[in-house]
Amino acid sequence: MSTTLSRITTDSPQDQTCYSTLSTAEEKRLLSVERSLERKRTCKTLSQKQLTKINNTVRQMTPAMLDEELTKKKLCTRGTDDIQRGRLKNHYKNELLFDSKNPLTLIEQPFEYIAVVDFEATCDENQKNYLHEIIEFPIVLIDVKQQAVIDQFQSYCRPVRNPILTKFCTDLTGIQQRQVDAAPIFVEVLHNVESWLNERNLLSSSNKSRLAFATDGPWDFAKFLRLQCRLSSILYPEWANKWVNIRKRFAQFYSIRIVRMLEYLNLSFDGHRHSGLDDSINIARIAVQLLKDGCILSLNDGVHTGDPEFAAMTNTNTEFACNPDAATTDSDEIVFEN
Ligand code: AMP
Ligand code: MG
Repeated sequence: MSTTLSRITTDSPQDQTCYSTLSTAEEKRLLSVERSLERKRTCKTLSQKQLTKINNTVRQMTPAMLDEELTKKKLCTRGTDDIQRGRLKNHYKNELLFDSKNPLTLIEQPFEYIAVVDFEATCDENQKNYLHEIIEFPIVLIDVKQQAVIDQFQSYCRPVRNPILTKFCTDLTGIQQRQVDAAPIFVEVLHNVESWLNERNLLSSSNKSRLAFATDGPWDFAKFLRLQCRLSSILYPEWANKWVNIRKRFAQFYSIRIVRMLEYLNLSFDGHRHSGLDDSINIARIAVQLLKDGCILSLNDGVHTGDPEFAAMTNTNTEFACNPDAATTDSDEIVFEN
């Protein structure tokens, strides 16, 4: 189903529906749905005793033992010790849950495709109240069964409020003035995005398990897309209500707090940091690694109406934290990494 881009009657962005990230209660509900789905899939749960035993076994392994055991189990040895331990722990758990020595083949993913999105937006240095407009809309499409990237979409968008990019923005994103000057405005780009997805039959409402969007943290949809829809006076698209928050899923799956996910995987960033497409490609690499390690990529973040708890994030007056270390927290505060 394609989202209808209907005009909202009010002119003031502030007057419109307040979207925010999922409340703690909603998040707990999603988690419990996911757990019960997992239980149904496996018809088994693990006791605390079994979990403690797995944790202790893996914790006591030296790096050499870890490497050997992962190789023996035909698992990837990429990443830091923390990642390797997380990978092995999950594997042991799945061996018990599925009662199989090859549980990776039995894991059922909830979606056929994952569309990784990473917006770039207008910005300026140290500007608290900046009205960010989306200037790059990339999609990197993962085929979940193949565990590989199969397609991509990219379009620049012409900003309207601040049509001239700041030097800071061009330096940060690599996006040139002529590229946005030649681009359609956001509403047209959104229309092209939906056509692109429809051509691949990815927005079909009859098949909700076909596609999930994935982003690095909550900001792309809950902050940038929401703000852009207000500025363009269009309804927030229904397909962006929930998404896979890769940063959150990564931290949960490997039981570590994330500073730099790629570094943990011993991968280096490919391309230009803060290019929407290159950012999306690198997030997709992390998502593919999660799939390969048996992490279930289900929806774990989203927007909903009227939750004051997260008003700060969706408020245009949000003070942006530029401290990369802040990314080690699970906080929904926007984190700019340089
Ligand atoms: P990213 O996905 O990390 O490339 O960031 C998305 C957008 O956030 C960028 O296009 C900028 O609009 C904004 N942004 C990122 N880092 C900074 C920063 N250090 N200062 C101001 N804005 C930033
Ligand atoms: Mg980016």
